Amino acid sequence: TKWVYTFGDGAAEGRAGDRNLLGGKGANLAEMCSLGLPVPPGFTITTAACNWYYANGQTYPDGLENDVKSALDHIGAITGGRFGDPSRLLLVSVRSGARASMPGMMDTVLNLGLNDVTVKALADASGDARFAYDSYRRFIQMYSNVVLDLDHDVFEEILEEEKARQGYELDTEFTASQWQGVIALYKQKIEEELGKPFPQDPQEQLWGAIGAVFSSWMNHRAITYRRLHDIPESWGTAVNVQAMVFGNMGETSATGVAFTRNPSTGEKLLYGEFLVNAQGEDVVAGIRTPQNITEAARIAAGSDKPSLQKLMPEAFQSFVEISNQLEKHYRDMQDLEFTIERGKLWMLQTRSGKRTAKAALKIAVEMAAEGLITRNEAVKRIDPTSLDQLLHPTIDPKAERNVVAMGLPASPGAATGEIVFSSDEAEEMRSAGRKVILVRVETSPEDIHGMHASEGILTTRGGMTSHAAVVARGMGKPCVSGAGQLRVDYRAGTMTAMGQTFKKGDIITIDGANGQVLKGAVPMLQPELSGDFAAIMEWADGSRRLKVRTNAETPTDARMARSFGAEGIGLCRTEHMFFDGARIVAMREMILADTEKDRRAALDKLLPMQRSDFVELFEIMAGLPVTIRLLDPPLHEFLPKTDEEVAEVAAAMNVPEEKLRHRTEALHEFNPMLGHRGCRLAVSYPEIAEMQARAIFEAAVEAGKKTGSPVVPEIMVPLVGLKKELDFVKARIDAVAKQVMTESGVTIDYLTGTMIELPRAAIRAHVIAESAEFFSFGTNDLTQTTFGISRDDAASFLETYRQKGIIEQDPFVSLDIDGVGELVRIGAEKGRATRPDIKLGICGEHGGDPASIAFCESIGLDYVSCSPFRVPIARLAAAQAAI
Ligand code: ADP
Ligand code: MG
Ligand code: MG
Repeated sequence: TKWVYTFGDGAAEGRAGDRNLLGGKGANLAEMCSLGLPVPPGFTITTAACNWYYANGQTYPDGLENDVKSALDHIGAITGGRFGDPSRLLLVSVRSGARASMPGMMDTVLNLGLNDVTVKALADASGDARFAYDSYRRFIQMYSNVVLDLDHDVFEEILEEEKARQGYELDTEFTASQWQGVIALYKQKIEEELGKPFPQDPQEQLWGAIGAVFSSWMNHRAITYRRLHDIPESWGTAVNVQAMVFGNMGETSATGVAFTRNPSTGEKLLYGEFLVNAQGEDVVAGIRTPQNITEAARIAAGSDKPSLQKLMPEAFQSFVEISNQLEKHYRDMQDLEFTIERGKLWMLQTRSGKRTAKAALKIAVEMAAEGLITRNEAVKRIDPTSLDQLLHPTIDPKAERNVVAMGLPASPGAATGEIVFSSDEAEEMRSAGRKVILVRVETSPEDIHGMHASEGILTTRGGMTSHAAVVARGMGKPCVSGAGQLRVDYRAGTMTAMGQTFKKGDIITIDGANGQVLKGAVPMLQPELSGDFAAIMEWADGSRRLKVRTNAETPTDARMARSFGAEGIGLCRTEHMFFDGARIVAMREMILADTEKDRRAALDKLLPMQRSDFVELFEIMAGLPVTIRLLDPPLHEFLPKTDEEVAEVAAAMNVPEEKLRHRTEALHEFNPMLGHRGCRLAVSYPEIAEMQARAIFEAAVEAGKKTGSPVVPEIMVPLVGLKKELDFVKARIDAVAKQVMTESGVTIDYLTGTMIELPRAAIRAHVIAESAEFFSFGTNDLTQTTFGISRDDAASFLETYRQKGIIEQDPFVSLDIDGVGELVRIGAEKGRATRPDIKLGICGEHGGDPASIAFCESIGLDYVSCSPFRVPIARLAAAQAAI
């Protein structure tokens, strides 16, 4: 087996396509080399070696050691160095790189190979002792942290103390001999902590770092990240070993990161940050505030620190050329890392850049316009679920803004919440149902769970490419970073800004669009869905076959769904209409009635209310199909629960408490999900279904007159298992239809159909289709009844199932295609066999889940129906499934 792939000097053994074996970083380093770009030479140890390592008790495969040795010689041949030889110095970085980019999850060690001897050689060779000792102390810090597992703070403390003693503000002010002093203190501390000295042997250092990269694949942070992003453990990570280039060799050296287009807005402008006389992660870590790369960006940001364009015009020019070349080559926006060593540019990384949903849309639309990609590719480039971010509110421009601090607009959207200062607190408060803003000096990978639990993130340090900014953008959470005027005191639990002090629990708002931090809650606006969003949606609509409807019963939801592009209502749950105000009273009267006559009297009160609901829905959906489901839940859901409620309702309705209690007891069920509900109610109390049918038909007549276009209602009978159940209810519906037509003199077209939500219904679909003119697969209940799992009780064990690898995904979130999906397929096929033009749709959460939508496309359903906010997601996912 080939465990090691080399790259360097315009050639490489791997290619961009080898990402699975070499990891993203390694594959792209190889590709950049092959393109002839300036990349320090190096080699990649494959992900297969990582898997071998874990499969064999954390040992290395035979031959790896030799392969690494010759690969080091390969580097040396290019650079003229020799690893471990002070007379021909060769220092390397050891970098992890998994298949999918996992920002900040894995650790990198720079300047490896330095020791008490080689550091002198480095000082001589570079003619810059300050630089050499700065590099050595960085190496000791990183290596101790990553490989020797010593806490970062140990070194920070020593450093801060020394800085204070010298009266320095920046690390760059230290002289060579002062760094030597710091190094001595570091080494002393390490010996104290570990009982042995810092390793001096470069070979030992190298293998320590390689082992640490492999081990970090299984560290807590990496495991959490993989779980959150559905990355399989079996992928493993690669290790990249690469000759060092130095951005910390004084004022003509620098290091930076850049995006070929703005990752926040998508604007086609090179966008990035750099630091002079700095190394590697200084930019990302927010140790100093970085400078802009282009003049244009510097001016836009109002910064008085010179841009790279101004400071190092030649290196800047080659960087611009290379970034253009890479974007064209990869046909996507790239995220780049570079270092300038004494004026010479070196490329250290390229990958497809993470971006906000807004930027993703703009970039896709503009790249299609530039002819770089096709429209279908543009549609395919957008992650449907990310659209969610765009559907979230922003601050009303007319709102009064009480600005207490300014930071960088690191991730768009606005959020309001209570201040918390730690990730654990964020999680606690979130699970207590509170909305929080996580306020930190800066975030680290340990904060991922807290960031998830928060509405938004606010940091006082760090730039647009800081950890907080990158991760928040990925999560679609609003973030303001680097709000330097804010003083956070973790110990006191306070945040101070412009003389005002905020405590934990105080409410603030952050505006990720402009970096403002505002006092209190601020009115928000719904987003506008025009421009790039509309363009992608239009292209998607042109490519999709599936129709997209919405689940809605209130006028507000229906209107919102229409504005999101819903093509009708796929599920109107009528029970939701019975809960408020006078309705619940009439409903309870109906339930408490002893005779059919009393029941009809109560239903007569409900009829006009129900009718006016439907008129409004039909008007909003003018000309579009509307599917209305007859009453579905068991009746006891409408009765009061606690003693106080019972007393209150009894008094209001003027019935004895006893009677109410008695009825509640009579309606009690041990397993209501499988109880007296759905069409079973209509069979027991046909007058309920009749009232609803009448309300629907009368509303259809009325709305038809008002809008001028005839309404074709689709009446849906829930929880049918037997054809005879459907026939029984359908006969009542048909009779009412006839009556209303006679009374109104208007002919009404309508469809009667059923939900397929019981396995029996799916299996007997060919028989049920004799009576049903449409099927709507109610996959929420169908999942419950197929698995025999109650959705309301599943949370307690499904997560355990996930953790133990028994299921990969919650079947209530993404359709279980093998089981529940098989029943849907059977139902669809059998339904069509009997009635070739039967309308087929799916309602329930799965109607808004991209993977489930792809399945619906594959079996040729006519439409999916989902909640209003998921309509754009479904439109896009339906197009992607069809392309
Ligand atoms: P991450 O995946 O966290 O970005 P990287 O391996 O890319 O980790 O490295 C961290 C930092 O060190 C980056 O800024 C990178 O550009 C820099 N770096 C890595 N290898 C070298 C090298 N050989 N010479 C100079 N800088 C390097
Ligand atoms: Mg990197
Ligand atoms: Mg159901």
